[in-house]
Amino acid sequence: MPFSASPMEPGGIIGILGGGQLGRMIAMAAARLGLRSHVYCPDPDSPAFDVCAEKTVAAYEDEAALRRFASSVGVVTYEFENVPARTAEVLAQVRPVRPDAAALAASQDRLVEKEFVASLGIATAPFLAVDTAGSLARAVAQLGRPSILKTRRFGYDGKGQTVVKEGTDLAVAFRSLGSVPCILEGVVPFEREVSVVAARALDGAFSAYPVCENRHEHGILQRSAAPAAVAPATAAQAVAIARTIADALGYVGVLAVEMFVTRENGAEALRVNEIAPRVHNSGHWTSDATACSQFEQHVRAICGWPLGATALLGAGVEMENLVGAAASGWRRLLGCEGVALHLYGKAEERPGRKMGHWTRIVPASCDKPADDERNPDATG
Ligand code: AMP
Repeated sequence: MPFSASPMEPGGIIGILGGGQLGRMIAMAAARLGLRSHVYCPDPDSPAFDVCAEKTVAAYEDEAALRRFASSVGVVTYEFENVPARTAEVLAQVRPVRPDAAALAASQDRLVEKEFVASLGIATAPFLAVDTAGSLARAVAQLGRPSILKTRRFGYDGKGQTVVKEGTDLAVAFRSLGSVPCILEGVVPFEREVSVVAARALDGAFSAYPVCENRHEHGILQRSAAPAAVAPATAAQAVAIARTIADALGYVGVLAVEMFVTRENGAEALRVNEIAPRVHNSGHWTSDATACSQFEQHVRAICGWPLGATALLGAGVEMENLVGAAASGWRRLLGCEGVALHLYGKAEERPGRKMGHWTRIVPASCDKPADDERNPDATG
């Protein structure tokens, strides 16, 4: 190991690559622990800049700026998985980057990710590599229709994917994604989608938050609720899967593993969809519903500190994203009992852009609210 594994001290500076809402929430958690943050992002309007001690506005390819940034901090982390490999390499020459390059490599490319997960004996959707329109035809012949064609890299929030249905012209589908290297996935007939947000510390200690259940709309996470309505054995298996992945990567920090819950031979089964080597939208409820949020947990892990408590403070919790115009309901949400509102300070509202979220803890003395009572903004 090129660097000492000695823990950071309060007063130290953590470096955060990426200035979106995740970086902002990491910086806020770091500040609560007496740490300062230096945020590096090419966009001068980054929401994380509002809450950090230092900022660098420069390209991820600007090696001189990267070196200056890294030498000003004790440890470097990131809020997005598409950190270019060379960027991570340059930073790692100066300071520890946590999670490290192995985590980035395993999560940046959907084919590498699925092969890695499968190599650990963990189930995924059936998948095949697709490099040309011709290989797409062969893959579709094997996996059938419908199936999902996804770009190997740079897909997020449902972008970079298209469904291959009956009648879909394969050459057109391949071209529509830019004729780049892709993966074809069989459609998993899932009952629900869940994720495990977990952390692995520098000494290998592991801790997971309760498994949560996620609902996506147009490929964007809309709602999460914890605990997920799955059998205890399924929840335990989901956590075990996250731990196997984290251990195999020698991971340090918070990671999220998204999974499908299917019913196979009458019992619940899990298939991993995606690994996010970072704090994750489906863990935002931890800020209000646990003693140690995923953001604080990430800071603790990358600083070499012990992990914090992950137990739910109520019987359950729900979180809803405020996407695009939904954020204009903020005033009404402020008046909803038990609702904790988070706004990201983004100047410009755009369709599909995550502007904030709210959470609500279900008190231990109450039953979980019925579905039609869940959304305090539904009638607004
Ligand atoms: P992804 O970008 O891979 O996370 O996909 C976004 C969403 O599309 C997932 O959360 C699922 O709702 C759906 N999806 C993606 N891949 C599959 C699959 N192989 N089978 C069924 N649904 C999928």
